Amino acid sequence: MDFYVILGLKRGASPGEVKRAYKRVARRYHPDINPGDGEAAAFYRRATEAYETLVDPDRRQEYDIHGVASPMNEPATVEFQGFDFSASGTGGGVSATFRELFSEVLEQAAPGGAPAAAERGSDVHGEIALGFDESLAGTERRLAITRLEACEGCGGTGRRRAMAGRCAICHGTGTTRWRRGHMIFGKSCADCGGSGRMRYHPCGACGAEGTVARDTAITIQVPAGVSDGACLRLEAQGNAGRRGGARGDLYITARVEGHRFLRREGDDLYVDLPVAVHEAALGAVVDVPTAEGPASLRIPPATQSGDRFRLPGRGAPSPRTGQRGDMIVTVTIVLPPARDERSRRLLRELGRLQGNDVRKNLFEG
Ligand SMILES: [Zn+2]
Ligand SMILES: [Zn+2]
Repeated sequence: MDFYVILGLKRGASPGEVKRAYKRVARRYHPDINPGDGEAAAFYRRATEAYETLVDPDRRQEYDIHGVASPMNEPATVEFQGFDFSASGTGGGVSATFRELFSEVLEQAAPGGAPAAAERGSDVHGEIALGFDESLAGTERRLAITRLEACEGCGGTGRRRAMAGRCAICHGTGTTRWRRGHMIFGKSCADCGGSGRMRYHPCGACGAEGTVARDTAITIQVPAGVSDGACLRLEAQGNAGRRGGARGDLYITARVEGHRFLRREGDDLYVDLPVAVHEAALGAVVDVPTAEGPASLRIPPATQSGDRFRLPGRGAPSPRTGQRGDMIVTVTIVLPPARDERSRRLLRELGRLQGNDVRKNLFEG
């Protein structure tokens, strides 16, 4: 194919335009960002060849006069190391395929417009609110969303079959023609299959888009252990694509309510556990509230405020692996109110008995 057409350039393009055009193509078609795509790799090779020819004044002159010559057989002395291939494509090129670039190059300038290509539908974003317990157990939700659906009038194609008449795309000639630079291209009209007779007309129900907006209710399975801010991806549940293109995805962000006393970090759950002075001093077995009811925890003698205990496997389940985190219990010692004289006497006696200075560490060198 013509080197100028490959890079989408006019004949008189400046060296700067050649470089920019190649950079644009390379960003989309470099093999590193299209692994396993043979068509992209082949196109990339041809674009590189075109670039190497057009960027070299001597070779370009030779090419302009004689067309493709010796450069075909030269090993590719790749010039593109200075460009940034890691950047994604510009201007909506992220999902660009080889065919999309081809349609850009070949069909863009077609008078009357060759039938526009299908486009992938955009993604739809939504939110669900979950209670804390619900988020740990998993649940099912009905969600009302508005999204684009395939038009029933035309089956999503944007076109309807017509009985007879002259093809409006090629004006009955059966061939579409267009210019690019100094060149004129022609090909059999895709709309009427080259017959010149109208076979389709734009669908009025959807304005030839192939899609219409609808309110829909969909059911979402929320996996156990979804945390606040987590995003669920539902593949191919987004907007229908234009003219029969693939559906986009649906992304649902979870908003999880806080809990009265449980706190979540990663897949671990945290709780502050009030413990009486005598339990902490003498040791005790106490109940700890977990997501699925009380669990037993042994507090050893001489436990202090702030001491932490771990209940393995009593945390939140990971929505990915199903594996559960731990429950982390932080002890808070609660003093007795000691409003009666007997309690106060006992505490004074305890003080005399122990006699130790709890602050002495603060004053020792
Ligand atoms: Zn339609
Ligand atoms: Zn036609």
